[in-house]
Amino acid sequence: MDGRPYFISVEEARTICNTTPVQPNAEHLPLDRCIGRVLAEDLTSKVDDPPFDNSAMDGFACKFDSEATYPLSLNIVGLQAATGENEALTLRDGEAVHIMTGAPMPPGADAILPIERCEVAGQYVRLLEPPKPHFVRKKGENLEQGAVALSKGQHLTPSRVGLCATMGYDTLPVYTRLNIGIVSTGDELKPPGQPLNHGEIYESNSFGLAGLVEWAGHTPVRFPSVADSMDALRQTLDEAAKTCDIILTSGGVSMGEFDYVRRLMEEEGDVHFWRMKIRPGSPPLFGLWKETPLFGLPGNPVSSHVVFRMLVAPYLRHSLSTDAPKEWKVRARLCDPVKSTNDCITLRRVTLVSTDEGMMAHQPRHQGSGNIESLASADGLTLLQPGQSGEVGTWVDVLVL
Ligand code: AMP
Ligand code: MG
Repeated sequence: MDGRPYFISVEEARTICNTTPVQPNAEHLPLDRCIGRVLAEDLTSKVDDPPFDNSAMDGFACKFDSEATYPLSLNIVGLQAATGENEALTLRDGEAVHIMTGAPMPPGADAILPIERCEVAGQYVRLLEPPKPHFVRKKGENLEQGAVALSKGQHLTPSRVGLCATMGYDTLPVYTRLNIGIVSTGDELKPPGQPLNHGEIYESNSFGLAGLVEWAGHTPVRFPSVADSMDALRQTLDEAAKTCDIILTSGGVSMGEFDYVRRLMEEEGDVHFWRMKIRPGSPPLFGLWKETPLFGLPGNPVSSHVVFRMLVAPYLRHSLSTDAPKEWKVRARLCDPVKSTNDCITLRRVTLVSTDEGMMAHQPRHQGSGNIESLASADGLTLLQPGQSGEVGTWVDVLVL
């Protein structure tokens, strides 16, 4: 390894990856294409929200009178729809306006009584109780014009896109999605759908990894899987480096005779570290292939998934200065024993059950790193720290899948 960092902690591995971040570009997109993107600039509101005082209820608008006794009859002098057609109407004592939710408050009115507490008889309305000033939504009470409502790096969730429309934006400055190449390696891999010969297995990692890339908000570029050969691998990595911002490989980074990703990276690429203290998933490497950041993920399906979550996703978040997609950790009590180690973080697949005593973590499946079914049926991964006890009853952090 020529003095390159070897078998390092997850924190050290993340720090090393972060020294060569990818630089995303910004683009302007129509609002309806911004879901899931990351904001590239702070956004200030172009308007007050709401832009005018309006009613929070269907009911009657009138003047609040602390001296009045109820029920109280008022003369209905108009109908105020949400479009505010009657804006010129000014209310006087003894008068009320039939008002719809969202309609501008008529000048002179400062309280609303919901329709359910009103009795209408011809030109008159009987208020059964005092009208409520708090049913008036005041101009700018949610957001004032010029206020920064969303900041650079924030993930555009559906509610945030709705907020942008409310603030008057029809396009947004967002980071471009990164193109992330996915290269599976192994002579034994067959694409699903074809018959298997003895010794072959279906190639699954590229599909799972492509899903994780999309989950992280980027564009997966799946390459056909590559045989265990230096030449074939070199050719595919060269092609991926030309067209992609980042390359993920799977397989070929352990100690095996045919682990050519590691060999090629050591001989012709630039390895920044190899092996990380997590279980499963200890063999990853990170480095540059022709200037393009490359994550050499382990071949075992559970390991490649776990390493994406623990290493690639934090790197993507760091590169875009965003906290999205958010990683949720919950505290859960172990209901089955988990074997910890003294040097690695132990990530066991658990199912979670919410109980009156808190969250309970069960480990119903065998934990082999080739057992993708155990990942597919799990809710989370234990984050058992090096040396931490994994006895039944221990409270541990669990990364929600
Ligand atoms: P490797 O790291 O190349 O030795 O692979 C470790 C294990 O993961 C072996 O059992 C491989 O057959 C399996 N494996 C490697 N790549 C894939 C893949 N893309 N899909 C499914 N299994 C894989
Ligand atoms: Mg292999």
